[in-house]
Amino acid sequence: MTERVLKGLSLSPGEAFGEVVWLDRDGDAALEEEGGGDPLEALRLAFSRVDEDLSRREGKAEGAGKELLQAYREILKDPSWRGAMEEKIREGKSPRNAVEEVTNHFKEVFLALEDPYFRERARDVEELGQKLLEALSGKVPGPERDLSGKVVAARHLRASQVASWKPGEVKAVLWKEGNATAHVAILLQSLGIPAVGGLGDALETVAEGETVLVEADLGRVTAGLSEEALRAREGTGKGRRAKEREGASAGAPFPARTRDGKRVEVAANLAHPGEAPRARELGAEGVGLFRTEFLFMDRETPPSEEEQALAYRQVVEAMAPYRVIFRTLDAGGDKPLSYVEFPKEENPFLGYRGLRVSLKERELFRTQLRAILRAGKGHHVGIMFPMVVAGEELQAAKEVLEEVLRELGEEKPLRLEVGIMVETPAAALLAEELADQVDFFSIGTNDLTQYTLAVDRGSTWVSSLYDPYHPAVLRLIQMTIEGAHKKGRWVGACGELAGEVLAAPLLLGLGLDEWSMAPQKIPAVKRALSLWTVEEARALAEEALALDSPEKVRRFLEKEARS
Ligand code: PEP
Ligand code: MG
Repeated sequence: MTERVLKGLSLSPGEAFGEVVWLDRDGDAALEEEGGGDPLEALRLAFSRVDEDLSRREGKAEGAGKELLQAYREILKDPSWRGAMEEKIREGKSPRNAVEEVTNHFKEVFLALEDPYFRERARDVEELGQKLLEALSGKVPGPERDLSGKVVAARHLRASQVASWKPGEVKAVLWKEGNATAHVAILLQSLGIPAVGGLGDALETVAEGETVLVEADLGRVTAGLSEEALRAREGTGKGRRAKEREGASAGAPFPARTRDGKRVEVAANLAHPGEAPRARELGAEGVGLFRTEFLFMDRETPPSEEEQALAYRQVVEAMAPYRVIFRTLDAGGDKPLSYVEFPKEENPFLGYRGLRVSLKERELFRTQLRAILRAGKGHHVGIMFPMVVAGEELQAAKEVLEEVLRELGEEKPLRLEVGIMVETPAAALLAEELADQVDFFSIGTNDLTQYTLAVDRGSTWVSSLYDPYHPAVLRLIQMTIEGAHKKGRWVGACGELAGEVLAAPLLLGLGLDEWSMAPQKIPAVKRALSLWTVEEARALAEEALALDSPEKVRRFLEKEARS
């Protein structure tokens, strides 16, 4: 077999090699292929895929979620529905068209009925029709396979799938789509799973069971390796990882200071409570962003107040006496939830997402706030709201928080700070006004970049245009920091840019007070900050912000970088 090198994007660092398991290859046109080119067989396979998927979920679900899934499976078994689709296929329609036409017809029949119970069934039929279409296009995974110790290859990968993996379970991920700030990538980073994305059609050349070498830092995958080559590479891979670990823990625990002695905070971004001890080992002085939504994903019902409080308490205790900032649920965008109704949107990142969902799903919001406040009892805790664009919604969120605080009485944190993520240009432009209503800002450069540059953060096609070093993004960061400082508020950053060594002196020069990042990046950023005085960094930032393209900014920062 000849060696082949596939180039993609580095989504999550690390190296691994192992056997490939495809998550969703047998979908797509392959459903027809698998059915021997017979469209009736493809339809049968789609029905059985969806049924398997629902039954798997039903096994894990409880209460109302379980009942809903049982009801879906009953509808799926209704012979008139499937019979009508088979009829259309016999008339010459494709499986996709047959599913669409019959689903629409049944939906209309239900909607025309008086009884609200039946009208409600229209939504179920629509949902199931959508699932069948997804199965036909390969988006519903086949029977669950054992992924432990394997390199997982996928065409489509959702954050909810990855959320159920355990750290170390999967060796590496190869993904046809994606870029480094997609939530799937962020989750893979937090699980420590090396990943290469944006591999496109080249990924299709990798066979099930083939052994590959994944060099995720380089965005490189090598397939078709001989046994000897694999053994030789195993040695170097292990050596390098061990060296990285040593290097990482070496200067980590010292508090972050600039060369002229100014204290700055360097904290961790976490998504699971279990990551906290490692973050401390690597030198985290708190948690600047706890992405709570991962507790809410890959399940049929929301986590109870008790379940959430336990998870939040675990982080708070592991990080004490440092502060932990919890971001309230940031669902929507590329993180839908099965138990919250999301509209079908052309651009979900511009739609029903973040605080917009919390303000509508009030009980979900209140339960989460209660859990955070209770978990923070006796400790220093921050709460921040995602996707804010105006003062009214922030005000509305704070009113709910105040109500909950009144209900809880003494059961609340020793110290509570309330803030927002600044991740829309609107929030950055209104920084000075919004600062009146909060204790702090945390700049979400991942979303701020996508919204400022009109570049979808998850898209492979436009990933070359996605650049947080774009002067427009940098000027919004500057405006945010200046607006907050005028009102005496502190500002952090928790997007991927905050974890970049290249950006450290630039953000210091812009006046940033706190950096929050994936734990493994902490030692290098602390070191980078220690090489600059505040004055030097200010001069650097001033020059960088006068440039007119991201390339020029990067080149300039690379030229000035210190090591
Ligand atoms: C961001 O947008 O920069 C951020 C930190 O939030 P998330 O990546 O979870 O959207
Ligand atoms: Mg964001």
